[in-house]
Amino acid sequence: MKTAAEYLESMKAYNPRIFLGGRQVNLHENPTTLTVLRANARVYELSQEPDYADIMTAVSPYTGQKVSRNLHLAASTADLEKRAEMATLTSQMLGTCNYRCVGADVINALAGVTWEMNRELGTEYHTRFLKHLKYLQENDLAVSGAVTDAKGDRSKRPAQQEDRDVYVHVVEKKPDGIVVRGAKVSQSGAFAAHETIVIPTMGLREGEENFALAFAVPNGAEGLTYICQYTPFTAERELAPDVKYLGNPLYGQRETCVMVFDNVFIPWEHVFMCGEVQYAGRLIARFAKTHRMNCGGACKVGFADLIIGAAQLAAEYSGVQKAPHIIDKITEMIRISETARACTIAAALKGREEPAGSGFFQPDDIFGNAAKLTIADGFWEIMKWVGDIGGGMAVTMPSELELENPATSGYVRKFMKASAPAEKRLRVAKFIQNWCAGLHGAGTWHGAGSPMAQKMALYALADLEKKKALARNLAGLKDD
Ligand SMILES: Cc1cc2nc3c(=O)[nH]c(=O)nc-3n(C[C@H](O)[C@H](O)[C@H](O)COP(=O)(O)OP(=O)(O)OC[C@H]3O[C@@H](n4cnc5c(N)ncnc54)[C@H](O)[C@@H]3O)c2cc1C
Repeated sequence: MKTAAEYLESMKAYNPRIFLGGRQVNLHENPTTLTVLRANARVYELSQEPDYADIMTAVSPYTGQKVSRNLHLAASTADLEKRAEMATLTSQMLGTCNYRCVGADVINALAGVTWEMNRELGTEYHTRFLKHLKYLQENDLAVSGAVTDAKGDRSKRPAQQEDRDVYVHVVEKKPDGIVVRGAKVSQSGAFAAHETIVIPTMGLREGEENFALAFAVPNGAEGLTYICQYTPFTAERELAPDVKYLGNPLYGQRETCVMVFDNVFIPWEHVFMCGEVQYAGRLIARFAKTHRMNCGGACKVGFADLIIGAAQLAAEYSGVQKAPHIIDKITEMIRISETARACTIAAALKGREEPAGSGFFQPDDIFGNAAKLTIADGFWEIMKWVGDIGGGMAVTMPSELELENPATSGYVRKFMKASAPAEKRLRVAKFIQNWCAGLHGAGTWHGAGSPMAQKMALYALADLEKKKALARNLAGLKDD
């Protein structure tokens, strides 16, 4: 398996076409793209640390070797549980994405669906997919997952769009491969992955065959452009004289990009679905199951651990840690986070083999959706309480640079001091600002799918007929 240094070295072979803030930037030099390289390097490093070996690695049946859990296909409920634990651990260590998370859940969804297509349609997709997976595992490559299409007018189907390019689709089939066009949006860290695996964003119908696509594409393939998000945090990082003044110094924000496919050629050996509309719904449903447990639930539990820790520090630094209402608020944050953690563990432990006979495991759908929905609402609550405990200072604090400014440092040290010195209070306030006055609220709400999708799934999955029968029985009601 790759070390962090080997990952960084391997990325030097790539020079993707990246735009950020209206100009072309170099992956290896830009302060924002560097946060993603650094975060990926830390994930490679965690895989080498003996304390985390059982969480971060697994033995592959395809190579017989230890591989990254980011490239492992879950073959038991224990595997699912470790996968959820990996999501929590990497969030605790990074305060941003494990940028290999979506890719991990995409390969787990593709495994079962390609297995079914081989059996039911006689395709070669599963054979190709496993061959490619073995290559990824042997080379310990970082893979991002591309699911979310630009989608255009949400009230229209892909083929009804004025411009069909808002959904990634095939424009030409050749003897040696396909040509694809379109864009995937909000792509976490795609420019710093060795490759991206693409799947459809939704279930598809007859007539929508050109959109039923799954394939792998290497970083920087001809025709690929990455257009990065640009936020106040990007500007702040560009201006900061040293990353130590930033809220999450090394790893920054959850960085995404629009990934444009402008007639990109994909050889057949990297195509895992092409036209099989009847399997697209199953593919996205299986992806959603795992991703809601991992990104929707377990990952945000790791973020919550960081926020709760910062809230407790802020309380201690300002001397309010023993006040009953502060204890109550911290307890409420813990309750929300642990409820979500329980849902993710339940989703893993109640997981099952799917499709039956395949040997691949998927988490329980109800608990996975419950995890994501609990966190979608709960995360705003957690940020509300950290904003409360941190005081107005979390948004009104002077820059830590004032501590080095002879004209102001005496004042700042004197007036920002409480039960801890100004340095500590400013540092923790900046950390809190990164969460409660930043991108994480909307990011957590929409990441792993907007909550309405999970509500619809939960309502459809809950056995209301059984619940009605139970109520009728106990209430002494006759059948309707
Ligand atoms: C931080 C972050 C990281 C991400 N990383 C990745 C990644 O690595 N890979 C990836 O593929 N995706 C990624 N995503 C994308 C994520 O999956 C989407 O944001 C999510 O699925 C919602 O899609 P959207 O952003 O297009 O929102 P929209 O579709 O624009 O949703 C906006 C609102 O419209 C509603 N809506 C949408 N369509 C309909 C409809 N047909 N009928 C009624 N209501 C509708 C939604 O429920 C929501 O309320 C990421 C997102 C975030 C925020």
